[in-house]
Amino acid sequence: MSQNNPKDEHDKPLVSYRKITKSFGDRTVLKELDLDVYPGEKIALIGPSGSGKTTIARLLMTLEKPTSGTIEVEGEMLWLMPRKGKLVPANEKHLHRVRSKIGMVFQHFNLFPHMTIQRNVTEALVHVLKIPKSEADERAMRMLERVGLQEHTNHYPSQLSGGQKQRVAIARALVMQPSVMLFDEVTSALDPELVGEVLDVIKGIASQGEMAMILITHEMDFARDVADRILFTDGGVIVEEGTPEQVFQNPQSPRLQTFLSRFL
Ligand code: ADP
Repeated sequence: MSQNNPKDEHDKPLVSYRKITKSFGDRTVLKELDLDVYPGEKIALIGPSGSGKTTIARLLMTLEKPTSGTIEVEGEMLWLMPRKGKLVPANEKHLHRVRSKIGMVFQHFNLFPHMTIQRNVTEALVHVLKIPKSEADERAMRMLERVGLQEHTNHYPSQLSGGQKQRVAIARALVMQPSVMLFDEVTSALDPELVGEVLDVIKGIASQGEMAMILITHEMDFARDVADRILFTDGGVIVEEGTPEQVFQNPQSPRLQTFLSRFL
């Protein structure tokens, strides 16, 4: 567990999902979901495949739009913005600003193959945040050291292992200094022997405490080590939540008990 005590009663949530329903055609994959993430808090989402975890993440990244309900990040709504005392559909500028508070690392790292590792990390700093190249290079270098890749700055993605590529993807998201980071099954495309190095990098970042994290994972030991709070999703709802001790040692719902029994 991280050392900080993120959930203070005086804190306002950093991210709030309110009554979020998401349907694809006639299939409803999230049902009136409420979720608050507090500053610095580390949350793990666990649950069977198809239970809606990735959809929760994609909604926050604005890769999907809710069918109904609202999502706020630092008090700002994702799809709506205030204008003349009313809420109107958000324009691209508003969406872009709110979205920039969120970093995401996916299962597939999607690095730019024709760019060096250094440029993969600086690209958005220079072209999106308009940070001078020399400063972007310094920030990238610090971040690549943090994920243990300082020796590889001039290499190309094809020269790296899967675990190293995923660490570049983590550095690329972190360098943008988001308020919350989403990690969606970041180790499930990796060979088993490469999983540990990626999880260790994420644990290192989590232990520094500054940033909220939402971790979608099938690695139960990792969830137990890193998360302050575990949420178990099944059938598009959060069935049970609690501290790692509560969820892993004393699961209440039969669905969670069955799910966890697969990992014994
Ligand atoms: P999980 O991450 O828990 O495996 P997902 O959020 O990926 O679950 O998926 C939840 C359900 O939504 C699944 O049944 C999936 O097939 C469905 N789904 C996700 N995205 C789409 C889409 N773009 N179109 C249709 N169905 C989708």
